[in-house]
Formats: sequence, C-alpha cells, structure tokens
Amino acid sequence: MIRPVILAVDDDAEVLNAVGRDLRARFGRDYRIVKASSAAEALGVTKELKRRGAPVALFVVDERMPEMRGTEFLVKALEMFPDARRVLLTAYADTQSAIDAINEIRLDRYLVKPWQPPEELLYPHLEELLDEWSAQAGPLLEGIRVAGTALSSSTFAVKRFLSANQIPYQWSDIDTDPSMRALVEAVEPGLSRLPVVFYPDGTTLVQPTPRELAEQSNLDTRPKQRFYDLVIVGGGPAGLAAAVYGASEGLATLLVERDAPGGQAGTSSFIENYLGFPEGLTGADLARRATAQARRLGAEILTAQEVVRVRRNDPYRVVELADGSELSCYVVVIASGMEVRRLEVPGLEEYVGTGVYYGSALTEATLYRDKDVVVVGGANSAGQGALFFSRDARIVTVLLRGPDLGHSMSQYLVDRINETANVIVRPNSIVVGAHGSGRLESIDVQDTLTGETRTRPAAAMFIFIGTAPRTAMVAELVERDEQGFILTGRDVMPEGRRPKGWTPERDPFLFETSVPGLFAVGDARHGSGKRVAAAVGEGSATVSAVHEYLRTV
Ligand SMILES: Cc1cc2nc3c(=O)[nH]c(=O)nc-3n(C[C@H](O)[C@H](O)[C@H](O)COP(=O)(O)OP(=O)(O)OC[C@H]3O[C@@H](n4cnc5c(N)ncnc54)[C@H](O)[C@@H]3O)c2cc1C
Repeated sequence: MIRPVILAVDDDAEVLNAVGRDLRARFGRDYRIVKASSAAEALGVTKELKRRGAPVALFVVDERMPEMRGTEFLVKALEMFPDARRVLLTAYADTQSAIDAINEIRLDRYLVKPWQPPEELLYPHLEELLDEWSAQAGPLLEGIRVAGTALSSSTFAVKRFLSANQIPYQWSDIDTDPSMRALVEAVEPGLSRLPVVFYPDGTTLVQPTPRELAEQSNLDTRPKQRFYDLVIVGGGPAGLAAAVYGASEGLATLLVERDAPGGQAGTSSFIENYLGFPEGLTGADLARRATAQARRLGAEILTAQEVVRVRRNDPYRVVELADGSELSCYVVVIASGMEVRRLEVPGLEEYVGTGVYYGSALTEATLYRDKDVVVVGGANSAGQGALFFSRDARIVTVLLRGPDLGHSMSQYLVDRINETANVIVRPNSIVVGAHGSGRLESIDVQDTLTGETRTRPAAAMFIFIGTAPRTAMVAELVERDEQGFILTGRDVMPEGRRPKGWTPERDPFLFETSVPGLFAVGDARHGSGKRVAAAVGEGSATVSAVHEYLRTV
C-alpha cells in the first residue's frame, strides 16, 4: 500500500513551513506531505507524481502567488488528478476570488489565513475531504503504470508478461485519460511506440521487451553461480515440481524460464482436477504458490531467459542461454512443455493482440464486456476459456471442427457449457478468414459438412487448437519422436538395446533421455499425461533418479 500525497503550495516560505508542519503533525502517518514554493515548481512536482503513479489526495494552495494564481494552478493540476480534493488558502481580502473558484474548479474549501488553532480551523475540514477522497479511491497499489491503447499487440504483450509474473500494475488507456496521454507524448512524441511503462522510481520504459521488464521489475534474469547440481529448463508445473524437490533435498538448483513461471497451467482460467483443491484454483494462483514454494526452499529461478541449446561436455552438461552466456551443471531436466499451435488462416496474424489471442488471454476479458466473442477449439482448455469469457461477453460462440464437444472435452465441462445460456456451440465449423480495420471485427466460418461459408461478427477470437512440444534446444542431442516429444526410459531402448553412445553400466532411468544425466518430464516428454498432476508427478519423481545419477559422477 502507498501513502497518497498532500501537496501544499505557497510562495511565502514562512507560511509554507507552517502549513507543512501542521499537515505533517496530523496527517503525516497516512499521507506523504510534499511542499512547493511556487506554482511552477508545484506543476513540475504534480507531473512527476502522475508519471510515477503516486496518487494526490489533496491540494492545499495559496491563492495569491506572483506568477500564477492558485486557482489557475489548480485548473492545470486537476487535469492530472481530477479526483484530488482542492483547498485554497486566502487572505481575507481575496475571499471573492476564492468564492469564484468554487464554480470555476469545484473548489472544496477556502481557508482564511491564519488557520490557528489548526484543531478547529484546519483539521476538521481536511479530515472530511480526505475521508471522502479515500472512500472514492479505494485501496491503492504501489505501482507500475502501463499506459497505451487498449487494442495493441505490444501493449497486450507487456500486460500479459507483468500479470503472468504476478507483478501488479495500473493500466491507463490513453484514449480515455488525456492527462496520461500528455505524459506519454512527452516521453514518446508521435506515440509511435507504445506502451510506455512508468516505474515508481521514475524509470520509464518505452515498448519494453520481456527482458527489460523483468530486469526493471527486479526479477532475476541472470544466474548467481556458474555451476549447479541441477538445471531445470522450463517453469511449468513439471519444472517447478522438480525445483521444489531438488532444492529441498539439498541440490544447488536453478530453473530457467523463458517467459513467466506457470507454463500452460499458468494460463488456465480454472483448474478443477488438481488434487487437494476441491474448490478448484486458477492457473495463476497455482503458479504463484509453486514459485514461492520453490524459492523458499532455495531454488534459484530466472525469468525472461531462454535456453537455446544443451550440450554435453562429460561429465558436465552445458546450458546455453539466449543472451549468449553459458552455465555448467551435472544434471539437466528438460521440462519445456508445449507451445500453442497457430491457426493457419490468411491474414489472421495481423490481428494477434488486437482481437485474436492464443490461449486464455485472461487480462483482456473485460475489454470484451457485452461483446460477441468466439472460442476456437473443442478440448478442455477451450471449454474453460468459453466459461471464463461467458462472464463478461454477451455471447460466446465455440467453434469446433468435430461433431460434438464430448469428443475431446471432459464431461464436467460439457455439462457446464450446456448449462450456460450465453455460450453457443457450433460443431463442424472452421475459421477460413478474418477481417477488420486495425482490429478484428468479423471472421469467415465454413461449415465442413455443407461447404457453406458465412461471415460472423467477432470482437475477439480466443484460439485453443492444441500444442506442439518445445524441444528444439535438445534436437541435436537426444532422441525424439517424429512430433518432437523427447523419448525417455524404456522408449530409448528399442528391443532392449541401450541408446547409441550410452556409457553407464545401467539402463536409463524412468525419465532419463538417450543422454545420461539429461532427463525430460511433463508435456515435452513422449507418452506423458498432458495434465497438471501428471507433470507435477514426473517433475517430483525424477529428482530421486537425479540423486542416483549424481552418485556416479
Ligand atoms: C488453457 C489451458 C488449460 C489447462 N487446464 C488444465 C486443467 O484444468 N487440468 C489439467 O490437469 N491440465 C490442464 N492443462 C494442461 C496442463 O496445463 C499441462 O499439462 C501442464 O501445464 C504441463 O506442464 P509442463 O510443466 O510439462 O509444461 P508447460 O506447462 O508447458 O511449461 C513449460 C514451460 O517451459 C518454458 N520453456 C519452454 N521452452 C523453454 C526454453 N527453451 N527455455 C526456458 N523455458 C522454456 C515455457 O515458457 C513454459 O513456461 C491446461 C492447458 C492449457 C493450455
């Protein structure tokens, strides 16, 4: 929580000190008292506060200042903080201009100097105004502010990265917040690169990359050591489970995550089948809990850092990172999961982030309140997405290639969808075109039985059409199946023969790949369960084999 600001402005140093002292004595615990000795200085301070996302609750301003009247200052300052309460300090002779200001700037109070004793003439007025202000403002978050336009792929990417990493931020749409627009224009004239991210320490990032955001948000992006017992590639459920067990059992453990911990599960709007959570839990909640647990037990977690290649340099394994640096370790666990498949429709890619989203895009749901949206896909993730978006959207249309939902969706989700009045299911349907100027507006849907194509309005389309393994970083090192899933355990021993180049006097462990000391768990592994619990089970179980392996190196 942050302390909102009370800004006192007076060109008379003695009066300014007195007002500052009195304000601090009564309000200093809950509010930050900031003083300015001229209107120009006060405008500069107000701009900076706005830039840093620090809320101003109250302006206490002298009316008679040489270069600008208090009322004129307030007109400008209120453009930036329209909800702040406003009080003028006047001499008896100036009361008429204060009375005029009541209409001009909706002045809340004017106080005639001197205000002694403050207990009677100052505090009661200000307390009432501050109570009103805080009731209206609600709880305040210390904050990062993201300012941009609502339908923009780069703004979407920034908001998604921050929320996936559980970093709170305030969102300002510059199309509806003119004062924020002015601040953004000051940083990025022409507004060609958006969004602009303002940090409380005054740092400003323009259209930042995930790495820049991670570094500025104090997430770890670089390893603390050069050598680890165990390096885990990927921070989904499988990788996080391996990190929890590895670190808790005393291994120097590093987890490297290219985006944000949580993986696919982190994007799930509601997980209902994970053991021990009878009420269900969101993917974000699961990710937050697991990440905190892994860190508490001593695992190091890097975010916005990608593993591009894993090499063998016996007895060590070498992990190459996207920034060109390298790490050495005894054991690598690949828990890199899967990535979403793209929908191959001409012209679709230009709308990604401006109406077309892969996966749940939970941060964007409220943009489509009372609008008609489309969900593409017929598996559980599409079902969860449809139910999630049905809370805000007017109509959610689920398009599926197959004849009915029961084919690939769990029955509990099918039942829930059938009970939800604003979710419509259209089987035998594929998307063949997308249109809109600057943002998605409509799609062409073909009926696969009749071949007929119809154009349907669609403010947004959320696509859940399956996934492919992310295993390129070990493509040259380990054996994979034809789809790219990594083979492990018995699958690397066709007809009972150990893999080529295998040196240990034992068969590969359950989740060990064709390279000793290199394990694969979770969705990236051939034959895995493709469920959160399965991934967690594999990630946890593999650590005992890691110990066995470590006894031999
Ligand atoms: C929308 C949705 C809803 C779902 N709902 C459910 C549900 O309700 N119940 C259920 O049981 N299952 C559900 N699933 C499936 C479940 O989420 C997955 O089975 C599970 O997340 C697999 O875990 P994993 O750790 O193996 O891989 P992932 O979750 O895919 O995590 C892999 C991680 O590795 C990272 N990574 C990849 N490559 C690299 C690299 N080179 N360097 C660094 N990091 C890398 C990725 O960024 C990712 O974070 C859902 C899936 C989706 C998409």
